[in-house]
Amino acid sequence: MMDVVIRNGTLITPGGVFPADLGLAGERIAALGEGLRGQVELDAAGCYVLPGAIDPHVHLQMPTGGGYVSADDFASGTVAAACGGTTTVIDFVAPGEGESFLAALAARRAEADGRVAVDYGLHMTIPTWHADRSQALNELPEVVAAGVSSFKMYMAYDGFRLDDVQLYAALRAVGAVGGLSVVHSENGPLCERLRAEAVAAGHTAPRNHALTRPPRQEAEAVSRVADIAALAGAPLYVAHVSCAEAVARLAAARARGEPVYGETCPQYLALTAGAFDGPHGERFICAPPLRSEADQAALWDALAQGDLDVLSTDHCPFTADEKAGHADFTTVPGGLPSIEARLSLAYSLGVRAGRLSLERWVEVCCAAPARLFALAGKGCLAPGFDADLVVFDPRTEVVLSAERLHEQMDWTPYEGMRTQGWPRHVLSRGRVVVRDGAFVGSLGEGRFVPHKRG
Ligand code: MN
Repeated sequence: MMDVVIRNGTLITPGGVFPADLGLAGERIAALGEGLRGQVELDAAGCYVLPGAIDPHVHLQMPTGGGYVSADDFASGTVAAACGGTTTVIDFVAPGEGESFLAALAARRAEADGRVAVDYGLHMTIPTWHADRSQALNELPEVVAAGVSSFKMYMAYDGFRLDDVQLYAALRAVGAVGGLSVVHSENGPLCERLRAEAVAAGHTAPRNHALTRPPRQEAEAVSRVADIAALAGAPLYVAHVSCAEAVARLAAARARGEPVYGETCPQYLALTAGAFDGPHGERFICAPPLRSEADQAALWDALAQGDLDVLSTDHCPFTADEKAGHADFTTVPGGLPSIEARLSLAYSLGVRAGRLSLERWVEVCCAAPARLFALAGKGCLAPGFDADLVVFDPRTEVVLSAERLHEQMDWTPYEGMRTQGWPRHVLSRGRVVVRDGAFVGSLGEGRFVPHKRG
């Protein structure tokens, strides 16, 4: 007799799709089989059963340079994540000037622990002020020992941007401790120049955000960081790849056999730069910007064929008021919310539309992020793994709206979009946190998940 049995579902794994019951004992998966019996039984007839989705790129309660703080905190963000079928998120630590990595990590954990509804991990940011201080980089083994083995670096944004030499030093230091570098790959100085030229010419409308961060500068940055990572002998994970040309540069590095990985996000698959010319174009500002339909098609192909590995969200919400009323596009806080709709959008626009197999859907949303970031116990439907599970009903149709979603937001970029398929039940380490589409978990039940790389 199991504690919980999920009966009559169709299990989806990266290796195949098959009918089976799933038996849980405590926080773990205990058995896959037929006719399992449990104290609690959840019926999954007509539904897919998959590992809890993992979103390895979220920004909850993140302060920005402009004095804004992203609108979802660790509580609301993880409730929204759970409702959308995501049972682990990875957020970021951003050390302040003069603050050690370990002090910043302790402070960030204090913000999340006791507040999160699902499990979470953290990436450590290597900002400009730490990048070429060997004293700071010598701390990396202690950061890894504290459960953080992925490190974020930026090629754009003052205060964070690393030049080529700093990138090389940081990539090398991360590689030496067995970590993974996550790089925001845009040519920051070039974008700043294009932005200044646009504003000086009176081109202040939101569409100029996209025109001043063109695909070619992103591709150049991807290409350059891939070369620098190869010189440093270190693996590389490129964040939020948005365009065909950047995918091509990634694919070229992979064809050389280099350990280079890439992610994209729902906004680049579901939206285009046309949104900047709509009634609230400023709301869609994020970096890299939304692109063309041709870029969308290239991203879908790359996800399907394995040239991109992960679908994350880069969830970073700002309210309609915070986005509105700016003199020009350069001061609008950048970022979009997607933490709740990701799994459904990928199913609806990907699987249903024939662009993604069920296996690849689960690979890019669940299995690959667990593997790449070495989240022990996550992302797999097998005995011994955490019972983080989604019972996904492909028959449920949802019309997306800010009201329908649990994000602490007064708008959504997907307003009015019909999506097919939505989580019916969601379990986090054996606890039912979403039942029949309603959140029934509690804040504080999520835990910090250490990465086991290195
Ligand atoms: Mn981000």
